Amino acid sequence: GQCITHCPTGALTARDDVSLIMEAILDPEVMTVVQVAPAVRTAWGEGVGLSHDEATPGRLASALHALGFDKVFDTDFAADLTIMEEGSEFVEFMASDKPRPMFTSCCPGWVRFAKLHYSDVVCQLSSAKSPHQMLGAVVKNTLADEAQAAGKRLFCVSIMPCVAKKYECDVPELATVPAGEAPQLAAETAPDVDAVLTVRELDRLLRTVGVQCAALPEVDFDNPLGTSTGAATIFGRTGGVMEAALRSAAYLITGENPDFSTCDTTDATPEVPWVSKTLTIGDATVRIAIASGLENTAQLLDALERGEAEFDFVEIMACPGGCVGGGGQPIHFNREMGAQRADILNRLDNAAPLRYSHENPDIHQLYETWLEQPLSHTAHEWLHTHQEDWQI
Ligand code: SF4
Repeated sequence: GQCITHCPTGALTARDDVSLIMEAILDPEVMTVVQVAPAVRTAWGEGVGLSHDEATPGRLASALHALGFDKVFDTDFAADLTIMEEGSEFVEFMASDKPRPMFTSCCPGWVRFAKLHYSDVVCQLSSAKSPHQMLGAVVKNTLADEAQAAGKRLFCVSIMPCVAKKYECDVPELATVPAGEAPQLAAETAPDVDAVLTVRELDRLLRTVGVQCAALPEVDFDNPLGTSTGAATIFGRTGGVMEAALRSAAYLITGENPDFSTCDTTDATPEVPWVSKTLTIGDATVRIAIASGLENTAQLLDALERGEAEFDFVEIMACPGGCVGGGGQPIHFNREMGAQRADILNRLDNAAPLRYSHENPDIHQLYETWLEQPLSHTAHEWLHTHQEDWQI
């Protein structure tokens, strides 16, 4: 599956940022920070000749260090952060009389589609920025002093399964406005994420530089922005954001972790227009729906508009199957890899020592040191946007 807002092969519209990033890596006055999206770990090995068993997240972190990045962080950390913010937003939303449903906002392909074709639902999008934008904001704010002390400026790179993230990081309204400055200065503010590389570009870069990936040791992501939970890992497949959000929303509502089977969304596939469920969480009844692929999305939105369906929380991913089938992933002609890659994410989630975003100790630390609590003033400044303020 491919991101349909772009050429199916990525050849016509994908902007090539490889040389820009190599210049930053080679510049002694730049501290380069890189992050990798959940779905990247399912596919990066395909373009450099590694089997899925060899292409582990640890070897990917090693490969990024081998390319010369100073710090290698994990977008999964920010996926946990997204859940803390969006889960809290959803709990507040459920207690309000706002029009239903609330929509997820982590997929720029979907946000762009909504703004272009279904502008009535834009006010119902979560205000949470997407995970890589959140991590960019956290990096630019929390590492600024360290970079300055070293006489360097920060340059933030995201490795994404996605072509739409290239446009997203250029949206001026998504840049964090320095505290005390007027929001209209956003257009003059440096972006939180400076450049995005697709997985295809990353693989090409690894081949060009001659990194012998199979021989690399497995290393941990750098900390404190490298620790994550299984809930964050499944962001890369359809239904994963919803499942991760429900795991934590249920905890916020009842004070107890829900059973994994209560929130299970592994039945969401691109083959059906959408999957829906009604869950009981504490005293609340929560009606959810999940769709991937923009054709399915249009069907779901039309049904909502006609009053034929009603939900409280809806997850949309523009690419069929979610980011595992994203437009920036390696392409194998006549072979659809989405389901196989989603299995990898489910296995990583099952094997993870922590599986609830609210149990990530480094997320707690970030709130203690910088953000106070979910939806705080600083959290809003760094991690949220006003969806209606920016149009396509
Ligand atoms: Fe990008 Fe994922 Fe959305 Fe596709 S589903 S447009 S890869 S964020």
